[in-house]
Amino acid sequence: MAKEIWVFAERNGNEPAGVVYELLSKSRALAKEMGGYKVAAIVLGSGNLLTFDKLMEGGAEIIYSADHPALGDYRCDLYGLTLEKLVREHAPEYLFMGATGIGSELAPTTAGLLKTGLAAHCIDLRWNGQRLNCMVPAFGGKVVSEIYIPNARPVMASVRPGILDAEVPAPADVQIMSTDTAFLGTAESGEEFLGFETAGKPENDITEAQVVVAAGRGAASDAAWKGVTDLTEKLGAALAWSRALIDTGRVSDESAMIGTSGKSVKPRVLINVGVSGAAQYICGIGKSRTIISINKDKSAKIFEHSDYGVVGDAAKILPALIEKL
Ligand SMILES: Cc1cc2nc3c(=O)[nH]c(=O)nc-3n(C[C@H](O)[C@H](O)[C@H](O)COP(=O)(O)OP(=O)(O)OC[C@H]3O[C@@H](n4cnc5c(N)ncnc54)[C@H](O)[C@@H]3O)c2cc1C
Repeated sequence: MAKEIWVFAERNGNEPAGVVYELLSKSRALAKEMGGYKVAAIVLGSGNLLTFDKLMEGGAEIIYSADHPALGDYRCDLYGLTLEKLVREHAPEYLFMGATGIGSELAPTTAGLLKTGLAAHCIDLRWNGQRLNCMVPAFGGKVVSEIYIPNARPVMASVRPGILDAEVPAPADVQIMSTDTAFLGTAESGEEFLGFETAGKPENDITEAQVVVAAGRGAASDAAWKGVTDLTEKLGAALAWSRALIDTGRVSDESAMIGTSGKSVKPRVLINVGVSGAAQYICGIGKSRTIISINKDKSAKIFEHSDYGVVGDAAKILPALIEKL
């Protein structure tokens, strides 16, 4: 086994996906704790050279590149086969990827080909001195379980995007390793590539916003909801919500829902309005810097996770706050 931690470098065009930087940064920190490990980025595609600089800046110490026209567009079967070949040749101990649309498909496919273990949709990866624990919310987010893979190698994990910090690691001396992709000349794909459309940046991007106002069931009344939307506008904030607010019919979709089955936020300021603080919600707000919560129940769990709490009726507090602002 090579003492290497591999990160699959998913790309949007020539730009590595955000989660790749998060995983490289996490892997560099783990490599330091584990001692003697190197961190590698794995690039599959056509014209890979264009991403190398970004991956080096992100902290990759080795770049394994499989460059072939058949890999120009993502196809799960060919990407899986190529990853399998690379792993069999170089035998890394760890292989991580983002739990994105692509990663959620490619990770189990690759794990199946390699007959190894995969911890999917992790929220953290922790070295306990002896083994890697993959932290995965279970039972609807009520508990976070530690999953470890004792025997099979590589240990595979997919990690939810936007949760880990992407710190800029110290520059590394980079080794570039090209892979023989001749086998792809005859490999047949069962998938036909029809096209690729990039979703525009959502107008209300709660994952990147610096200020987020999040509404729960307690903000569903007309008066409280007016306060929430006025405050959001006044602060130029993004508007997020809990699952229960959807249940009230006040909002209709999960596009800005926080939580285990929604999104994770990491703003400088998060203001929760009428949110009780269920475990499935809390899971998505842990990286927020300052948390302010308004709730009429002083024993609400949300206050245990807040820097500032205001006990009272949101319909009365919000207009007063907006006037002050
Ligand atoms: C498998 C599974 C996955 C789930 N995933 C998610 C998820 O991803 N995201 C998510 O959010 N939930 C999720 N849930 C649901 C979750 O368990 C909670 O039910 C939900 O988060 C509660 O939302 P809430 O805090 O808005 O509502 P409630 O729990 O009903 O809380 C409303 C709060 O508002 C306060 N309040 C009421 N009126 C006012 C007022 N006038 N002024 C101020 N405060 C007021 C109340 O005191 C209360 O604390 C999931 C559940 C399961 C089982």
